[in-house]
Amino acid sequence: MLPSYIQDSWWTPEDPQKVAEVHDASTGEPVCRISTDGLDTRAAVEHARSVGQAGLGELTIHQRALRLKHIAGYLDEHKEELYALSDRTGATRRDHLIDVDGGIGTLRVFSSKGRKELPNTNVIIDGDVEQLSRDGSFLGEHIYTRLTGAAVQINAFNFPVWGMLEKLGPSFIAGVPTIVKPASQTAYVTQACVRLMLESGLVPDGAIQLISGSARDLLDHLDHRDHVAFTGSAATAQMLRSHRNVQEGGVRFTAETDSLNAAILGPDAGPGTPEFDAFIKSVTLEMTAKAGQKCTAVRRTIVPSEHVDAVVEALRSRLESRVVLGDPRDEATTVGALASKDQQAEVGRAVQTLLSAGGTLCLGGPEGDVGTADAEAGAFFPPTVLSFDDARTPEVHAVEAFGPVTSVLGYADVDDAVELAALGGGSLVATVCTHDPETAAAFARGIGSHHGRVLFLDHDDAKTSTGHGSPLPHLVHGGPGRAGGGEELGGGLRAVKHYMQRTAVQGSPDLLTGVTGVWHRGARANTATPATVASGEAVHPFRKSLAELRIGDQFASGLRTVDLEDILAFAESTGDTFYAHTDEEAAMANPFFPRRVAHGYLLVSWAAGLFVEPAPGPVLANTGLENLSFQTPVTYDDSIRVTLTAKQIIPRETDDYGEVRWDTVLHNQHDEVVATYDVLTRVAKEKKPEWA
Ligand code: NDP
Repeated sequence: MLPSYIQDSWWTPEDPQKVAEVHDASTGEPVCRISTDGLDTRAAVEHARSVGQAGLGELTIHQRALRLKHIAGYLDEHKEELYALSDRTGATRRDHLIDVDGGIGTLRVFSSKGRKELPNTNVIIDGDVEQLSRDGSFLGEHIYTRLTGAAVQINAFNFPVWGMLEKLGPSFIAGVPTIVKPASQTAYVTQACVRLMLESGLVPDGAIQLISGSARDLLDHLDHRDHVAFTGSAATAQMLRSHRNVQEGGVRFTAETDSLNAAILGPDAGPGTPEFDAFIKSVTLEMTAKAGQKCTAVRRTIVPSEHVDAVVEALRSRLESRVVLGDPRDEATTVGALASKDQQAEVGRAVQTLLSAGGTLCLGGPEGDVGTADAEAGAFFPPTVLSFDDARTPEVHAVEAFGPVTSVLGYADVDDAVELAALGGGSLVATVCTHDPETAAAFARGIGSHHGRVLFLDHDDAKTSTGHGSPLPHLVHGGPGRAGGGEELGGGLRAVKHYMQRTAVQGSPDLLTGVTGVWHRGARANTATPATVASGEAVHPFRKSLAELRIGDQFASGLRTVDLEDILAFAESTGDTFYAHTDEEAAMANPFFPRRVAHGYLLVSWAAGLFVEPAPGPVLANTGLENLSFQTPVTYDDSIRVTLTAKQIIPRETDDYGEVRWDTVLHNQHDEVVATYDVLTRVAKEKKPEWA
């Protein structure tokens, strides 16, 4: 009996009444029995909200992200075990690369992005600060904080590892404990992956629970604190979305459902072009990877009418010459079985519906040739190509045959192709194969609004493309309409924010500094000046290691006057002799300048000279400058001064230094703001004895 992992213990039912048998997809041999009879789902949810929240909450975003990296490493070391189990689902080694390696890779990307792009705290600021009062004493901005409930995943059978990890990565970084509910058919692979993660010792108590088997009452125990990410059929999504607790109880619900994705051959990409070859390769790959059991698979192959026959022929020829159906444990096999006999029957029924609606069978079909594969025992389905005389046949845009099946449809022109693609009612992804930028732009405008992702394929990117079917953690995965209307992956760290609430916060600079851990202009500062540093009364912030530095530590320089000679010398040495710096008459004719002005970069360079503390010390490097804006021109005989304030301190988990962001403001002698920007530095965590 496949165990569940609930309240930090493995659990199996004592005397189950309802038990499902799970079989090897290729041989039909029993793999495991599965039952959740008597499982206390409510207790699992409560455990996540209490123990799971507490355990993850003890860590910062970076600490959790770093754990993900190590969890990914542990899974990588043990992936052969996952491969061996995945074989039993009918998946080939190539398929394992998508599911197992793809899942591990996704964790790594989230780990890296989380540590690079998010702060090492538990509050994320979103966007700029708005000044809401004239004097700057009242500000507003947006922050993200984690949800206080459970991240419930309900997953499909086709990606037992990736399906879990792509959702776990973001929720774990956000700090929200996960309850995984894999599809029963392939739950034994997910269970092994969860067991490995727990074995790694890196998962805090309550952070991951697993329900191995059905969980029909799961949503009954959820409320506005919890988030459900569902992947599976549109019908189940609809049923769950209608649940009382989603409709009235505020459960956050996203769905990624089946969609009838299109691959569109551009009018310029006919037979004989490299684009045509890339297109055929892509469609056959997308039909056969995971035996077509991919939410992103190409269901509709939309091509110029005059090329329908050539496309059908090319697909047939490539599929016939390359596909060897069989048990994935046989080396010769290139395409494995569907996940179960039920799925095989389901795909057969869908193809039959398409044929009855007017489709012509060009290859394969329910009775098609499966070669030497054991058709009796295994859930094999041959690659199947249909074509339709009427490209607007409703069924072809509505019925998803969740296997290696595609329908070829002819279009008259780009507008017609766009309309055909739109008949899918919203899709996860489309490929547009063209080498013409204008055609690409026309398709982007036409199909963008009903797609989550569009891959433009031509001979330049054919070799380097990650492919139509691969959702990437960097980009949106999800789609409007029939595709579920959600973003399972939001594109980078947006996925993390799905597990957080965005809240507007208003208050004084001091209070918002306290709330966010980021210094706001106008908040209290601990100011050092050249005089107080010289007298030993104050310490220059550049002499403080991360252990000593606090946000609000500030250095305010004295004034330095800009002479005309300085401007001309800077023009001479840099070669930037733009007229505004060198030609008095032309500068005066310019609407923005009173006369010749200092280069902005001269001012920024001088500012560095005004704030720097030159001796070796904890500041290790200046890694950049962000958000530079020049606001008031500085002409000769004006003076500038700089105020530098430690704005954000991000200690690294893996190094003996961290990042410090310094708010930087240049003023002139009239206290007008000349320029603002952030200086980025790396600062040592501890002072070395020789710097002390
Ligand atoms: P389902 O929608 O039936 O199941 C998906 C998940 O939902 C499974 O984990 C299932 O669990 C669970 N589930 C079903 N009912 C409930 C409920 N009332 N409460 C809580 N959880 C529930 O999809 P299938 O896996 O059966 O696949 C059916 C079809 O869906 C496929 O043929 C294909 O067309 C499409 N599909 C689309 C995918 C996509 O990625 N977009 C992926 C997979 C399938 P359990 O297994 O225990 O019933």
